[in-house]
Amino acid sequence: MLKWLKDHWTGTQLTPEQGIEEIVLGNSRFVCERTKEDFEGYSGEQHPFVTMLACCDSRVHNMVFGFEPMDRVFEIRNIGNQLRPSAGSIDYGVTNLKTPIFLVLGHSNCGAVKAAMGDFSNETMEMIDELCDLHLPLRADDGKDAFDNRWQLNIQRNVDYQVMQALRRYRDRVENGSLAIVGAVYDFINKYGYGHGRIVLINLNGMVSREQILASEALPRLKEVLKEACIGRLKSPAQQ
Ligand SMILES: [Zn+2]
Repeated sequence: MLKWLKDHWTGTQLTPEQGIEEIVLGNSRFVCERTKEDFEGYSGEQHPFVTMLACCDSRVHNMVFGFEPMDRVFEIRNIGNQLRPSAGSIDYGVTNLKTPIFLVLGHSNCGAVKAAMGDFSNETMEMIDELCDLHLPLRADDGKDAFDNRWQLNIQRNVDYQVMQALRRYRDRVENGSLAIVGAVYDFINKYGYGHGRIVLINLNGMVSREQILASEALPRLKEVLKEACIGRLKSPAQQ
C-alpha cells in the first residue's frame, strides 16, 4: 500500500471536515508540483484527442495514459459507462471538439454491472433508470457460469454494446475515417493476464477479435502499434 494511503486511510469513511482538508491539501500538492507553463498551453481552449466515456468508479482514471499536457481527454463519466444518459456530452466531444477517438472504457469489478445483475429495486428512481439500461447489454448472460466469470464477461458485453450504440450514432465519421471507436477494459485485477492496470483493447469499430482487428485495413498505419497493444477478450464457457 502507498505510504500516503497507509497514513490516511483508517478503514472508516472521512468526516466532511476531514474531506475538505484532504481536498485543500491535495490541491496544494498539485499546485506545488506544477509551474504556470504547465497550464499556459490550454489557458484559452482545450485540445483533447480522446472523447472518453468511463464509469464513475473512483479506481478508474484517465491518468492511466499519463498524457501531458493535461487537456488531452474530454471525459464523460456515469455509472456503468453508458452512452444514453450522457449522449449530449459525448456529442460535444465527438462532433464539436472533433476528437478522432471515442473511447468506451469499462473496468474490472464494475459495481454498476454487478448491480444490474441483481435486485436494485430499493435504489432511487434515477438510479433504477440508469441501471435498467444495463439489462440490454447483459441480455446474453444465460446465468449458468460462476457469478464472478459472468460479471467480468458482462463488463465486456456492456463495452461492446456501448460501442455498437456509438457506431450507430457516428457511423458517417467512422466510415470517412475521421473517427475510430475503441472499446477497452481497464483491468486493475489482471483478469486478462497482461498486468495490473493494463488497458485491454476489446473492440475497434465493432471488430471484436484480435485477428479481425489486426487484419483490418481500416487503420493501416496502426498495424505496428496494434501488434504492441494488449488486445484480448475473455471467453464465455460456450466459446472456450
Ligand atoms: Zn464501474
